[in-house]
Amino acid sequence: MGILEVQNVNKRFGGLQALNNVNLSVREGSVHAIIGPNGAGKSTLLNCFVGRLMPDTGSVMFNGQSLLGLKPHEINQHGVSRVFQTPEIFTDLSLWENVMIASFARRDGAFRLNALGRVARDGEIRDHAAHNLEDVGLASKRNMIASTLSRGDKRRLELAMCLAQEPKLLLLDEPTAGMSRADTNNTIDLLKRIGEARGITKVVIEHDMHVVFSLADRITVMAQGTPIVEDAPENIKGNPKVQEAYLGG
Ligand code: ADP
Ligand code: MG
Repeated sequence: MGILEVQNVNKRFGGLQALNNVNLSVREGSVHAIIGPNGAGKSTLLNCFVGRLMPDTGSVMFNGQSLLGLKPHEINQHGVSRVFQTPEIFTDLSLWENVMIASFARRDGAFRLNALGRVARDGEIRDHAAHNLEDVGLASKRNMIASTLSRGDKRRLELAMCLAQEPKLLLLDEPTAGMSRADTNNTIDLLKRIGEARGITKVVIEHDMHVVFSLADRITVMAQGTPIVEDAPENIKGNPKVQEAYLGG
């Protein structure tokens, strides 16, 4: 049994079968990449894990418990955290305040802006937030306002906010999209370091093959809503089905 078990998931948008009988098993402690051409259903699948979309049929089990029907903050509370394609941060607040709100959310899964005054006086939360900012290399910028950050730093801040919730499973949707090569390599190093230090299971959707082959121990290839191949990275590149999916897609 994997920490995340997906069985027979289907999702239709009008006439489009976006997910077609998806089965996926993610082993605890692994980095499992999901790749595939644009429109293959990767983000739709992730949205089914975090309560943003409800599959038409099938099951999504995390640690033996069903995630279906739970609200996003309840899924957070179960230890599932997600880095979005567009960073979701509080742009008017400092980095430290952003991460304090996330540290506080460990307790009930929800980001509560109106609790900030109280949260900011809590020594344990302050230390916890500072520690997580340090882990992503943003300690020296902690008093800056989030809106002034570079794109790469905004994504790092969002990652710090995810980590501050102490997830068991981290879902990353194109974590290096739009980043320079230097920022991409920094992100790879950061994700590796954090994975090793904290033993967090990760599911990564990624277009950049350099990132996929640097991070993943397992790769699922999706095409037209269905996983077509699952294998170790060294067996993926030469697989004719994979080549066909990309060329034909
Ligand atoms: P990927 O992330 O692999 O690029 P997506 O999961 O975003 O693909 O999309 C899969 C398919 O479902 C695409 O054809 C997309 O246009 C469609 N789709 C995604 N979300 C919606 C939605 N909310 N309503 C209608 N169609 C959608
Ligand atoms: Mg996508």
